[in-house]
Amino acid sequence: MNAINPPTPIIPETAPFNPAQRAWLNGFLAGLYGGAGAGQSSAAPPPPPAEDFPWHDPTLEMDERLSLAEGKPIARRLMAAMAQLDCGQCGYLCQTYAEALAEGRETSTSLCVPGAKPTARMLKQLLANAPAPAAPAAAPVLATAPRREVRVASAARLTGTGSAKDVRHVVIDLAASGLVYEAGDSISVAAPNDPALVGATLTALRAKGEEPIICPDGATRPLREALASQFDIARPLDRTLDLLAMTATYPPHAEALRRLTDGDDGAEPDGADLLDLLTAFPSARPPLADLIRSLPALKPRLYSIASSPRATPGEVHLCVGVVRDERRGRIRNGIASSFLADRAAAGGPIAASIQASHFRLPADPTTPIIMCGPGTGIAPFRAFLQERAATGQRGRAWLLFGEQHRASDFLFEPEFAAWLKTGTLTRLDTAFSRDQREKIYVQDRMRENGADIWRWLQDGGYFYVCGDASRMARDVDATLRRIAMTEGNLDEAQARDFVSALARQGRYQRDVY
Ligand SMILES: Cc1cc2nc3c(=O)[nH]c(=O)nc-3n(C[C@H](O)[C@H](O)[C@H](O)COP(=O)(O)OP(=O)(O)OC[C@H]3O[C@@H](n4cnc5c(N)ncnc54)[C@H](O)[C@@H]3O)c2cc1C
Repeated sequence: MNAINPPTPIIPETAPFNPAQRAWLNGFLAGLYGGAGAGQSSAAPPPPPAEDFPWHDPTLEMDERLSLAEGKPIARRLMAAMAQLDCGQCGYLCQTYAEALAEGRETSTSLCVPGAKPTARMLKQLLANAPAPAAPAAAPVLATAPRREVRVASAARLTGTGSAKDVRHVVIDLAASGLVYEAGDSISVAAPNDPALVGATLTALRAKGEEPIICPDGATRPLREALASQFDIARPLDRTLDLLAMTATYPPHAEALRRLTDGDDGAEPDGADLLDLLTAFPSARPPLADLIRSLPALKPRLYSIASSPRATPGEVHLCVGVVRDERRGRIRNGIASSFLADRAAAGGPIAASIQASHFRLPADPTTPIIMCGPGTGIAPFRAFLQERAATGQRGRAWLLFGEQHRASDFLFEPEFAAWLKTGTLTRLDTAFSRDQREKIYVQDRMRENGADIWRWLQDGGYFYVCGDASRMARDVDATLRRIAMTEGNLDEAQARDFVSALARQGRYQRDVY
């Protein structure tokens, strides 16, 4: 017998709600009953209910995530301790990394790069109180997509004189790679370590660089090449610290290394790379092959694509914030961002793959879109607007952009100004935090324009946010809920449900990192 889906209920006009509440409830019910699919018949049995991961939200604090996972199996509680970005830097997704730890297939608790120390500490604590894993050890499943060779064509600076930031417009030539993408996708880029850092590390190891080393992919390479392209020398794992502690011949070195492994507050050198450790602990010199084997594999980095294939065929454009800071008198360059900015365009091909995303323009081109993309979060919105311009789509589009200073940090300003003129962009609100005494951020602009945001959403609009997960995306989320309360007369629980329903309907999309 064919199952008939129930029709989506509609709140009657006579029900005791104001128009905004009625619109919200109708949207909520449409999301709940599956909208477009309602009313269609199907012979297939209903799919098993999908497991819900309410903690899989990078805008939640660690304690909120853990309390949502309370009472769940250890793998789920471990997952809740992670940064929830599925960024692949650990070699897994958040769920598969947690499962590998729970089953004993993975032993390193410090692989979650964005979660950093707090995640590593919590993973250790949860595992210490968990029953011993019963499953046999097997090879971990890495989150990798097929990689192809591409070339970096240019990396022009987008930020102007006087900016505190170095943001680059990176153009990647897909050439004959066969890679294809859609506006909203990300690209995963394999970047090598800085040869100067590799050289200094070899010197500290008193190695020539020609020593044969077995690499994570099973191939044997000379040490210099292995350190350049195969191993992460910026973030040693606990197992490297353990190895150094075990082989340190000077007891205070062993003691300091153990404090680092335990994640003790104040343990030095903080945020050490391999060179820092070799410099700080000269008595710790394990056999070279053991030391190198203890290092993690060098992982690719993800970047939101800032172009549409219809506007820039054969190319991927990126908006890359170069990570640089100084620690212990040495400039620390982010591995991939500094490579893309400083060395890639002059170098040979690099390996890349496309990560397909959920981040998509609405299927109906007339649907209004609100895009909130401060800083490098602007990237996918340049792609969306290029896409709408190239295909002649005329839906309303509103961009909220923020940075420090208008004069030096307004990324892609001429392009957005041109789209405002042609109507591809209907509205542009900016927040330059340091151009006046009080700091102004995109979420302040949202608050000021809450009535309009609410109206666009009531018109069926989509809300997108891209960029910093730790502060901005969380504040934007809270502001969206506040707008639902002030403009939609909803109470706190209803406002939370409203935002959740928007997300379930695919009308609230986040690409945050
Ligand atoms: C889906 C997604 C989309 C993204 N899109 C963009 C984008 O459009 N634009 C963009 O600029 N970025 C984007 N990112 C971020 C990007 O992937 C990289 O994380 C970023 O460029 C930094 O990488 P890196 O290799 O340059 O720096 P890394 O070498 O990874 O260093 C990053 C940070 O870690 C610190 N660090 C390094 N080693 C240590 C250590 N031993 N101990 C403590 N701290 C350490 C560094 O000081 C630095 O602050 C995105 C991320 C994701 C997940």
